[in-house]
Amino acid sequence: MGCVLTINAGSSSIRFAVYEAGETPRRLLGGKIDRVGLSGTNLIVDDPDGKPQVLRLAAADHRAAVRFLLDWLEAMPVFGLVKAVGHRVVHGMKHSQPERVTPKLVAELHKIMPYDPEHLPREIGLIEELRKRNPRLPQVACFDTAFHRTMPRIAKLLPIPRRYNAKGVERYGFHGLSYAYLIEELARVDPAAEKGRVILAHLGNGASLAAVRHGESMDTSMGFTPAAGLVMSTRAGDLDPGLVYYLARTERMTAAQFQHMVNHESGLLGVSGTSSDLRDLLASEASDVRAAEAVEMFCYQVRKWIGSFAVALGGLDTLVFSAGIGENSPVIRKRICKGLGFLGIQLNGVRNAKNAPLISADGGRVKVRVMRTDEELMIARSVTRMLHLNSIRET
Ligand code: ADP
Repeated sequence: MGCVLTINAGSSSIRFAVYEAGETPRRLLGGKIDRVGLSGTNLIVDDPDGKPQVLRLAAADHRAAVRFLLDWLEAMPVFGLVKAVGHRVVHGMKHSQPERVTPKLVAELHKIMPYDPEHLPREIGLIEELRKRNPRLPQVACFDTAFHRTMPRIAKLLPIPRRYNAKGVERYGFHGLSYAYLIEELARVDPAAEKGRVILAHLGNGASLAAVRHGESMDTSMGFTPAAGLVMSTRAGDLDPGLVYYLARTERMTAAQFQHMVNHESGLLGVSGTSSDLRDLLASEASDVRAAEAVEMFCYQVRKWIGSFAVALGGLDTLVFSAGIGENSPVIRKRICKGLGFLGIQLNGVRNAKNAPLISADGGRVKVRVMRTDEELMIARSVTRMLHLNSIRET
């Protein structure tokens, strides 16, 4: 049996899983280190049948957390079966496929660090630490931007002087592993739908939408960075560019302070003034107008993006809701879809309330689906395909 270790290093968490390699990889082990860089950092190991196992880490910074995780993983019997490691790498510039990690690729990732200073340094650190410890273990970088490389040039271009485009400043889009997984799932459950006009709504703490035709990305709401597009839990999404100069003049705000504000203090948190978590806001909206406005703004903006992408696609056949909010919140889906009857979007209230896989009304022109996304499984599948690990299991 060949196994794949997947690693997904976020800003404050590192998720990991071990899968038995295959087209439908089977998860054998998984978990995460959360609160990296904060106090109370834990390694939490999933246990589908019982209480998760929790191990407290002494040192909290990212490097120490990585060492702790790798020490722990390497001591697991299943690590002996790991034939390859797949990483989620948030930014992959022009790469349109997963890439085997080589010294050349690592050097390239170092070079593009300024494009994603929030994620890339940590991801590269993890790749290098793993290579130091297990030099013969193949590693594969799975890029979150890769899915969107099919976007037409007009959707990629930013309307600023062309010389920046020559340096790689353009719209890349993110959440590509999630979208790739959702499109493969859609092809499995409804092959005709996958060939049609599809809007995928990945609504989690980070949130974006993608317009997809014939299984290929035509446009997406995130842009040069994941801060663009829709209002998110703590990110502002699209803003008037004139705000930068206004705040610099009136508040002496620096570029770094602006970057922090739009990524960590804005969105649902900024508008509500209380929480970035939609569940909290739904619980308090009846008595707190700021929470109510934050929730309504989120639904209003998702609605606008759906309208905009229906136009980009020349109509709509399928709408998919996914990620924490999209998969679990009937009330938010209902508010988003309200008033979209003119596009052919109509929900069946009973099925929506149950988070059923198909929630559109019978006879509605657009099929509306709820699909659970799984970025880690997509990584395991990509690594299996790329390194032909299927054959390892068979021999
Ligand atoms: P991340 O982008 O960090 O992976 P998730 O996909 O886990 O985020 O989504 C987290 C978001 O999903 C939070 O805003 C949370 O409030 C929201 N969420 C999860 N379950 C529900 C629910 N039952 N109702 C409303 N919102 C939910």
